[in-house]
Amino acid sequence: MRIFDPHIHMTSRTTDDYERMAAAGVRALVEPAFWLGQPRTNVGSFTDYFDSLVGWEPFRAAQFGIRHHATIALNPKEANDPRCREVLGVLPRYLEKDGVVAVGEIGYDSMTPEEDEAFAAQLALAVEHELPALVHTPHRDKARGTERTLAVVRESGIDPGLVAVDHLNEVTVGAVAGSGCWMGFSIYPDTKMTAARMVHILREYGLERMLVNSAADWGRSDPLLTRRTGEEMLAAGFSDDDVDRVLWRNPVEFYGQSKRLDPSAVDAGPMTFEGNSILRGGS
Ligand SMILES: [Zn+2]
Repeated sequence: MRIFDPHIHMTSRTTDDYERMAAAGVRALVEPAFWLGQPRTNVGSFTDYFDSLVGWEPFRAAQFGIRHHATIALNPKEANDPRCREVLGVLPRYLEKDGVVAVGEIGYDSMTPEEDEAFAAQLALAVEHELPALVHTPHRDKARGTERTLAVVRESGIDPGLVAVDHLNEVTVGAVAGSGCWMGFSIYPDTKMTAARMVHILREYGLERMLVNSAADWGRSDPLLTRRTGEEMLAAGFSDDDVDRVLWRNPVEFYGQSKRLDPSAVDAGPMTFEGNSILRGGS
C-alpha cells in the first residue's frame, strides 16, 4: 500500500513518527502551515516556521525516504490577531517556492469579519499564483461554516477543482460533493471521523475527489490512520486499486495541479523501505 498523506502537521510529531509512517507505506505528504500552540506575536515567528516547512522538515522526512511538501498561509485562528495579519504581505515570496504545492490552510475558525477578510485575500493569492487552496472548516457550527466556506469560494472565482474543503463529516460532505470542490477527511482516534465511518462515506459518495488524511497535530492523533483506512476499505470489499486511488492517486492529482509535485512522489512504484538514515545512524 503506497500512501500520500495530504494533510499532516509533522512539526508536532517526533522523528519516530516519520520512521513508523515510512514502514506503514507513507511515501509522500503535504504539511499545511497552521498554528503553533503558543500564540505568535510577530511576523518573524511565521517566517521561521515557514522556512522550517520548506527546509528542515523536508530534510527530516527524506531520512526515511518520504517526500515532504508544504502549503503556506495565515491560518484561520491567527487571522484574528492584528500582530499576525501582517504575514499576508510576506506570503507571495513563499508561494513561489518549489516545495509549496498550495495556499493553506485557510478558511474559518470562529467565522469573524477578520477571518472573512484573510480567507478572501488568500483565495485571491491562490488564483494569482495558480495554486490549489486547502480550506479548513470550523469544528464548531460545522454545517453553517461549510456553507459559508463554499459561498466564499464561489465568490472568489477560483476553479472549484483547485479547492479542497477539509475536515468534513457525514453532515457536511453532501454540500461539498455538489460544489465541484475536493472533499478532505481527517481521521482521528476518537473525534471528528473514524476509519470505519470513512469507508461508509466512500461507499455512498464514491472515490472521485476524495482525500483522506491523518491531520496528526498537537491534539490526540495518529499518523498511521491513513493506513488503517486503507485496511478498512479492503476489509469492506474495496479493491487494491480503489485504495491506491484514494490514498495515492487522488492527492497526487489534487496537488499535482500546482505543477510542483516532486516527480518521484508522482511516479513512486511499490514500496521498498531501505531504512538507512542519518537521523537513525546515531552520528
Ligand atoms: Zn490541519
